[in-house]
Amino acid sequence: MNERTSVSPGLYDINVPLYPRSPADADGVIFFLASTPAGRRLGLLAEAGALASEAFSGEASERNGKTLLLCPLTHANAVALREVFPWLRPQPLGLATSAGCGDRLGLATPGHVRAARATAARSAEGRGGAQPERSLKMIFSQQSIREMTRTGRSPDDVMDDATWGMFQEGWRDGAGADADHLKTTDDIDLCMAAGFTFFTIDPSAYVDPAADTDDEPVLRAKYAALPWPALATTARDLRNAYVGKRIDVEDRAFTVDDETLLRAAVKYGGAVAHVAALYRHLVSVGPSGGFELEISVDETDTPTGHAEHLFIARELRRLGVRWVSLAPRYVGRFEKGVEYIGDLAAFETDFAGHAAIARALGPYKLSLHSGSDKFSIYGIAAELTRGLVHLKTAGTSYLEALRATASFDPALFREILTFARDRYDTDKASYHVSAQLERVPAPETLADADLPLLLEQFDTRQVLHVTFGSVLTTPALKDRLMTGLMRNEERYYDVLERHFIRHLHPLAGVQ
Ligand SMILES: [Zn+2]
Repeated sequence: MNERTSVSPGLYDINVPLYPRSPADADGVIFFLASTPAGRRLGLLAEAGALASEAFSGEASERNGKTLLLCPLTHANAVALREVFPWLRPQPLGLATSAGCGDRLGLATPGHVRAARATAARSAEGRGGAQPERSLKMIFSQQSIREMTRTGRSPDDVMDDATWGMFQEGWRDGAGADADHLKTTDDIDLCMAAGFTFFTIDPSAYVDPAADTDDEPVLRAKYAALPWPALATTARDLRNAYVGKRIDVEDRAFTVDDETLLRAAVKYGGAVAHVAALYRHLVSVGPSGGFELEISVDETDTPTGHAEHLFIARELRRLGVRWVSLAPRYVGRFEKGVEYIGDLAAFETDFAGHAAIARALGPYKLSLHSGSDKFSIYGIAAELTRGLVHLKTAGTSYLEALRATASFDPALFREILTFARDRYDTDKASYHVSAQLERVPAPETLADADLPLLLEQFDTRQVLHVTFGSVLTTPALKDRLMTGLMRNEERYYDVLERHFIRHLHPLAGVQ
């Protein structure tokens, strides 16, 4: 536990070490998060007899005439705590500048909260400066079904871990919860039941990337075979809506010719129909508190052209779909866990066009997927969108866990790196990475003190990044990793805070 303790009156004498920012009062009960030898516990302290609530289950004892209840961090207790404190319940974030911090271990939220808090403090300090500043909204529960499967977690686990982390750090500013890369109505139902509010639909299975290069007869045949009833139009009407028409977007004008329309429609027509169907499902089962939708077509091989973006947005609107953010595939390479690879000037030009379309046809936010560690583009993205931007990160918090581990358990870090080198060729299959194994140093050749520096090395980062699923489903590694991070939690929060400040400050427009 760290020292900067200022606890609520009444907590002084119960002799339970607690997380100093956690205490919160409700209806005469003090709630707090305790650090006990058996692990973290939710504490409730009240006048004897006043703890009638059956919502929380734990071990009761008497302390100085009061009743103390120490509850394990179960799903039921997390649900009950969200009932008591509205700021722990996921909420829609609207068009505010926002950042999502995926956390595959379920231990990172306190570090994310500290970075968000430091960014807000800096932003408040810097008001009146030359840079436009934006207050950031945060998402702490964020995981795709694919990542949940790979890490053996459920939507409830993802939600609850973020709840405990927010509560531990006393984060009262609210947050969204992103059910990421959903592909089916079953995915939606599963995440809706767990209380998610932000649904990212990934129609990539319905994108036809071959449309970029198909010859004319193939293109025409594919166009004729589009799911017209689901698109609620006809081949001829769709063509008439675009070809030869001038579409004004702010100070730009787009004219779409026959070939451009054919390629855009063939590439994204099926995806548009799929998103519309999943959106209607969301509306029919949606939570009463509201939900928001993101559409991601980032996981395709070729960039989304401006005319294609225009096509997607116009057609989705025509079908009644409403969304808060969209992730096109931008130019350049968004590889996992490393800097943006490509020409920054070309990125700016491309991104500026997407930003103009998003303002004119929404407004909605542009979303940066695979957004971890792309330090050179956050400021550009925030500026060109005028704050209509969402940043999505995930794997980088796992990498920071390994950086922390390298500093306090070099032996375990060496084992994980050796294991990752063996797994890389198999595990990299579904990721955009270009690391070369032979450039990853053999861990036995390095001094302990140099191990954390490996997290600065491109190839090592990617090898460690894409093998997280294998590490986290190998109990011999996972258990020691988790135990070490819990024992050295302040170290982990500290590296996370530093790392995320580098993401969030440019996004918020602070130095
Ligand atoms: Zn994505």
